[in-house]
Amino acid sequence: MHELSIAQSLLALIEDEMAKHGKEKLITVKVRHGRLSSVVPEALSMAFEVMTADSRLAGAALVMEETPVLLRCRDCSREFTPDPPTAAFAPCPGCGQELGHTVVSGRELYIEYLELE
Ligand SMILES: [Zn+2]
Repeated sequence: MHELSIAQSLLALIEDEMAKHGKEKLITVKVRHGRLSSVVPEALSMAFEVMTADSRLAGAALVMEETPVLLRCRDCSREFTPDPPTAAFAPCPGCGQELGHTVVSGRELYIEYLELE
């Protein structure tokens, strides 16, 4: 379950930011994850909750938003969201090319913002 290690690195980042800004309490953390980053939101939520339970971060809200997959065709440069949306290889609706598309978005995993107090 790689959500545990993701939660661990999120917490390290959060602690860093809190120290940097001299804050004591985490209210909300918003995480953006791409459809292709293979994060299971429920699993990450649970890992986060378990790992913060006995800390000063207990009770903080973890908000997650999924970024859809966006590909750019290597032949005609058209950008499109493949169907099914998890497939990195999909026919381009413009020219039919199936391979070599650039993943414009969908792989990201980052903290969008922190609400600290
Ligand atoms: Zn194309």
